Amino acid sequence: MNNPTADNPALHILRTVFGYEQFRADQALIVDQVINGGDALVLMPTGGGKSLCYQIPALVREGVGVVISPLIALMQDQVAALRQNGVKTAYLNSSLSAAEANEVEAQLLRGELSLIYVAPERLMMPRTLALLERLTISLFAIDEAHCVSQWGHDFRPEYIKLSVLHERFPTIPRIALTATADEPTQREIVERLALQQARVFNSGFDRPNIRYRISESVGTAREALLRFIRNEHEGEAGIVYCLSRKRVDETAEWLCTKGLNALPYHAGLPTNTRQMHQERFLRDDGVIIVATIAFGMGIDKPDVRFVAHLNLPKSIEAYYQETGRAGRDGLPADGWMAYGLQDVITLRQMQENSVADEQHKRVERHKLDAMLGLCELTSCRRQALLRYFGDRLDHPCGNCDNCLNPPATWDASVAAQKALSCVHRTGQRFGVNYLVDVLRGSDHERIKQFGHDKLTTYGIGKELSANEWKNLYRQLISRGLLNVDIEGHGGLHLTDAARPVLRGEETLHLRKVTKAEKPERKRNEKQFKREADSALWEALRQKRKQLAEEQGVAAYVIFHDATLMEMVERQPQTLEQLGLISGIGARKLDAYGEAFLEVICELASPIAITDTVAETIKLLCQGLDPIAIAQQRNLTLNTIHSHLAKAIENGELALEDVVSLQKHELLAIQLAFEQSDDGKIKPIYELLEGAYEYGVLQCVRATLAPQP
Ligand code: ADP
Ligand code: ZN
Repeated sequence: MNNPTADNPALHILRTVFGYEQFRADQALIVDQVINGGDALVLMPTGGGKSLCYQIPALVREGVGVVISPLIALMQDQVAALRQNGVKTAYLNSSLSAAEANEVEAQLLRGELSLIYVAPERLMMPRTLALLERLTISLFAIDEAHCVSQWGHDFRPEYIKLSVLHERFPTIPRIALTATADEPTQREIVERLALQQARVFNSGFDRPNIRYRISESVGTAREALLRFIRNEHEGEAGIVYCLSRKRVDETAEWLCTKGLNALPYHAGLPTNTRQMHQERFLRDDGVIIVATIAFGMGIDKPDVRFVAHLNLPKSIEAYYQETGRAGRDGLPADGWMAYGLQDVITLRQMQENSVADEQHKRVERHKLDAMLGLCELTSCRRQALLRYFGDRLDHPCGNCDNCLNPPATWDASVAAQKALSCVHRTGQRFGVNYLVDVLRGSDHERIKQFGHDKLTTYGIGKELSANEWKNLYRQLISRGLLNVDIEGHGGLHLTDAARPVLRGEETLHLRKVTKAEKPERKRNEKQFKREADSALWEALRQKRKQLAEEQGVAAYVIFHDATLMEMVERQPQTLEQLGLISGIGARKLDAYGEAFLEVICELASPIAITDTVAETIKLLCQGLDPIAIAQQRNLTLNTIHSHLAKAIENGELALEDVVSLQKHELLAIQLAFEQSDDGKIKPIYELLEGAYEYGVLQCVRATLAPQP
């Protein structure tokens, strides 16, 4: 029934080194493929867990794993994180001095490293290749493999030369990984890296923990942003994207005057200011970076809780990549955007004015149409996004604004006829404000000068407010029924697509103007119902920050938020219990266990334990099994088992309510515990060769003599 780790070194390493209980989705298959010497092409969304797919095989196989990574910041991050877990690793790139590089090379030659991160241009140097030929190499991992694609947005010429690996090291397994590759790009990767023999693992593109929300800004987008941050993300890290440098500076400054911790980032700032801001964003807790799209490449921060757009991205690719920087740690995160009429007009105009050739223009227009379509959509956003990338989601996701608050629609056919006809009758050269004035029968002098007060459309639109008309015009522009002039005055003209609607041959159902978003509860607050828990959470974060500062690393390198959250939830009392928490491997338990236990013991609330245990018991009594309970409560299976063990110990549950064991199995486990002198789980687990999960052993132990 259980996964023995004795003959499964990969699982053993996952648990002891990384502190994770189980492989996710495809991870186990990928790891197996590479351990067995096969090649792999891995397509996995951001935050899916690509790193372990090569880190674990590198630790299982003999020799050093060579990881090719295009970004220095990413390499440094990965190396720092691995060292925290006690893995011997280093990097070779241009940030090292000659002496430092020599030292790394010496370590390699002495066989001291399990993993080496190398920049592609460094790898291609004859000296490096010659060095590699003297080593035992366990595998080559090619990270961000889409950089090999000449048509993609991240093309790196050195990546093309990586085919040399296959020629010079034909027997060493290679694993290429990427989070962004549509089908043509996938084919290009296979071809250019000579991965024809590789097994392809495709986990799709979905980021289920990101909640997509797109709203038309009724007031100013900035105010909406402030409300959003204050209501839902106070004190949390996020990225705010703006189109221009000027807007970046203004927005950052304005957020600061409102008491938020916001920093600007764009190419116009001095290099050291920019670096300092990026550094603070990475290291400190809860910094908001306001940036142009220049920011983000190579940012691996796992706990970015929101990405907000104050402008419309030019394409769905850009939108997806930018929002994708939120929630790498798998915890709930928001992709939030507010846009208005002016944004739509500006983008349409930019595209009209584009100097690109006809074919390029067509592609640009298609991309913009898709982006605007996503904005005006009334059905599930995630389904539309995934469809765009050739992925499928059979059901509406339940985690986007349209799923959560289905937008009201209305039959706008007649109103659209009036709006379009007004464009036609005024000569197809006026902007939205003027058109709305005509429709609503305003007595502006200008209208009289043009004689437009004599038109049949003059004053036929009093039933809608000015805002509602603007909203309608925006949707007509988004849908391509109207286009904007090239001169940039915002004058509108009809397109061919407008004719059927104008003639009343086509009906139009459109979104109603939405009221200001109702504030959602901050999701952290939902998790911490009790004040004592929030206090513990803060104290744990404080401890983490202190430890991080002492070593000059980012806080998340010590522990991820998810790990701290589990500490709050489970309130472990011993090192052993602490070690069961996801994300705490042997090295970290050793280095930080005592420090965090101290904090927990000081602040732990006994009531909290009872509460959460009671909830688990309730669900069990409703017929859910531990796995289902873990899923529903968003806790690990281990946590659920520890709750159940507690309930067994208190006599609220019987062992057979919880686990199904054969009689002889039960006896064997009990015997093992009786013979041990301290009742610790780990030695028993190993004694039984990993045949039973920790949680099962815990439950059995709870039936025996009282435990600490
Ligand atoms: P990617 O490179 O695909 O964006 P990472 O390798 O950085 O993703 O992993 C994302 C997060 O998921 C990290 O915090 C990582 O530690 C965590 N993670 C990966 N695999 C597992 C697992 N099997 N169990 C628990 N957490 C995992
Ligand atoms: Zn949805």
